[in-house]
Amino acid sequence: MLAIGIFALSSFSFNSAPPSKPFVVVLDAGHGGKDTGNTGNGYKEDEISLSIVLKIGAELEKHPDIKVIYTRTKDVFLELHERAAIANKADADLFVSVHCNAHSSQAYGTETFVLGLHKSQANFEIAKKENEVIFLEENYEETYAGFDPNSPASLIGLTLLQEEYLDQSIMLAGLIQNNFTNTLKRKDRSVKQAGFWVLHNTYMPSVLIETGFLTNKQEGKYLNSAKGQTEMAQEIAKAIISYKNNLSLATTKSQNPVIEEKEMDQAIETTDEKIYKDVVFKVQLAASSKRLDTKPSNFKGLKDVSRNKEDGLYKYYYGETSDYNKIQLMKTFAQEKGFTSCYIVAFKKGEKRKLSEVLKSEDK
Ligand SMILES: [Zn+2]
Repeated sequence: MLAIGIFALSSFSFNSAPPSKPFVVVLDAGHGGKDTGNTGNGYKEDEISLSIVLKIGAELEKHPDIKVIYTRTKDVFLELHERAAIANKADADLFVSVHCNAHSSQAYGTETFVLGLHKSQANFEIAKKENEVIFLEENYEETYAGFDPNSPASLIGLTLLQEEYLDQSIMLAGLIQNNFTNTLKRKDRSVKQAGFWVLHNTYMPSVLIETGFLTNKQEGKYLNSAKGQTEMAQEIAKAIISYKNNLSLATTKSQNPVIEEKEMDQAIETTDEKIYKDVVFKVQLAASSKRLDTKPSNFKGLKDVSRNKEDGLYKYYYGETSDYNKIQLMKTFAQEKGFTSCYIVAFKKGEKRKLSEVLKSEDK
């Protein structure tokens, strides 16, 4: 085996090619200085987000091919547009902004945002809260000409720049949410879109992570603890590394790769398995009285679509696996292809079962 290895090294010149440009990740701890962020249960969003970000950075810096840049490493105030400017100047490959959520209820769970038009009032409210820091900035009227965080309409123009990076942003957001849910058993509030100012000015794939609710008694306590911060940071770092590995093939060919099935397959391969015995998961794409051919061109290019007649309706499914992690990634992929309201269904011994019950009833 050793001899073969040496032979391969000396025979192919690409093995000795000079190291390529490092993969640059900009880590952005939300808030800071006179902007404390939310202070649910007395915990401080600006301190917690900074602590998590520094831990993510320490993890990523163990990889010599990754370069980490922080928008802040101390308790200082930064204007929103400065954060994006730091990332653009560094010609970064990724921008990751870390925050903590707040709500008047005992809501809890993690959600990761990419820039887009908010699809619900709740998403708009979160973006509004994170955007409101603008009012603490001097000269905000000039800096953000015409932008009003309180107006949903003024967010529409913000989505344009990020559009071409949307595929990659959703890919990273999906990996992050999967890690939170599967490894840390945090409640999954899913990948969402909303108009965050801090994301709209960056020229690279960008996500904003709401790591959980400080206003929730248990989640606030968890996020304020060293254990909670370390665990969240490790899962975010792991997701960034999988993302980098998944895209490394595509990036050599083009500046802005879209996620192809190949990359999706790679993501699936590098994600830990989570097998549920005797269970088959599928992604339900659509239900219709019409009998459609399951060829890819009928399903936005998705392969392996199957059809089943149930209660007089044709149900169309994507994927078929006992691996819950795999089906979650396939769901993200299907959503990205345009099936925005698709969802995971579970079958046990051929019978459709409630997903929540299947997930609860198994040990794993
Ligand atoms: Zn925040």
